[in-house]
Amino acid sequence: MAKNNWKTALDALEKYDNIFIFHHIRPDGDCLGSQFGLREFLRTNYPHKNVFVFGDAVGNFPFLTWDFDKFEEVDKKYFENSLGVVVDANSSGRIQFSEYILKKSFTKMLRIDHHPVDPDIKYDYTWEDETFAAAAEQIAYIAMMAKWKVSLNAAKYTYLGINTDSGRFNFEYVQKRTFDVTSYLHNAEGFKVWSINLPLSYRDERKVRFNAYMMLNYKKEGKVIYFHVTKKLMDKFKLNHLEAVDVSVLGNIGDSKVWVLFIDEPNGNIRARVRSNGIWINHICEKYAPGGGHEVAAGATCKNKKDMKNLIQDLKEEVEKHA
Ligand code: AMP
Repeated sequence: MAKNNWKTALDALEKYDNIFIFHHIRPDGDCLGSQFGLREFLRTNYPHKNVFVFGDAVGNFPFLTWDFDKFEEVDKKYFENSLGVVVDANSSGRIQFSEYILKKSFTKMLRIDHHPVDPDIKYDYTWEDETFAAAAEQIAYIAMMAKWKVSLNAAKYTYLGINTDSGRFNFEYVQKRTFDVTSYLHNAEGFKVWSINLPLSYRDERKVRFNAYMMLNYKKEGKVIYFHVTKKLMDKFKLNHLEAVDVSVLGNIGDSKVWVLFIDEPNGNIRARVRSNGIWINHICEKYAPGGGHEVAAGATCKNKKDMKNLIQDLKEEVEKHA
């Protein structure tokens, strides 16, 4: 069930002059695209507002500019009459630089998110709607409904989010609205999806080799497919824990219903990326804290091999319930 609608977000954005936008940890195309897309829309349509973005793109999507602000360099006067905005995220453990939010730096807080989650932060304004394929689709939807002007940069950033989080317009929540907002983004002079699609399509040779290895070596239990990206394998293929993460490689093979990519993290935990082609798995991921996410695309944290085994077993049993 959605919480509120685009007008809640628009009201909040219009009310405050100083706006600070946050993204989630392990940034992806959607959180970055919605963060910078929103900044660009605000700059074009409310030029008197001051908009800041905090975070780090960690080298992702180098074909776009990620010019973050630094919290320490922001003049204190901007924290008055301010709105902190969290896009594509919710709880403090999932937000990059959430300490600035937790120390109550901002007058009010807004969350625009497509994850169905009850967060630990108290937001003054929330627009949560899991029927959006991307948080960037929510941003573009606000813009379309509010009849905002679209700059080329706003179009590029938000399109990046829509493309990547919808699996290139492939996933279940893609609908007429998704194409309507994408069409609306074309009001930006000079915007073509090719300008994003082409750089997104380039493939790193190390990843191609690794993905081929995964396809030949995945394991299957019942209708659950999985693969463990160990530190040893990452070293062998010269990839790190943020690069050897392509869970979609395991998707929809044979009669599988769920697939899981386990990745060794530098802190000793094992990150699980869990996907399904219909059966809901986020409630199972929540058992392996911190864990959760969307109904059919979620994440979990395993502490050891036993947790990994248990997660696979839980998923297997969940699939059997739906047989
Ligand atoms: P990922 O596999 O990292 O792409 O995550 C899939 C979805 O699950 C995303 O929407 C994440 O926000 C969510 N998610 C991933 N890991 C966690 C976690 N540890 N706790 C809560 N949500 C998560």
